[in-house]
Amino acid sequence: MIKKIQSIFSRQPKRMVTEDFSSPIFINARLLEAHAVNCGCGHIAIPTGEKGDTYKCVKCNEPANGPKYNLGQRTIHYGASSKPLSKSPNELLNIEFYNDAVELLKHRRR
Ligand SMILES: [Zn+2]
Repeated sequence: MIKKIQSIFSRQPKRMVTEDFSSPIFINARLLEAHAVNCGCGHIAIPTGEKGDTYKCVKCNEPANGPKYNLGQRTIHYGASSKPLSKSPNELLNIEFYNDAVELLKHRRR
């Protein structure tokens, strides 16, 4: 009986990482894509880090200019009467998975 149960479980298909919408890689990719600018080569140039105004193309690696971005937590000014709302995990770039997200965007068909 135990053997039969095990064989049922082992037949379950593995989920692909890219289909996991709660994975930090996917969240990163979505965030980077949302803030991306167009590169001359036809692909997208994405933010190079959490904060700044530098971008880099996912395809040709050319630097690009764009608006300032902040994909990290908002700066909280202590002593201010109104604190800015903190972002949800879905709005934050997880720098640990930055390169994985870049890989995902590179291979995505547009
Ligand atoms: Zn490019």
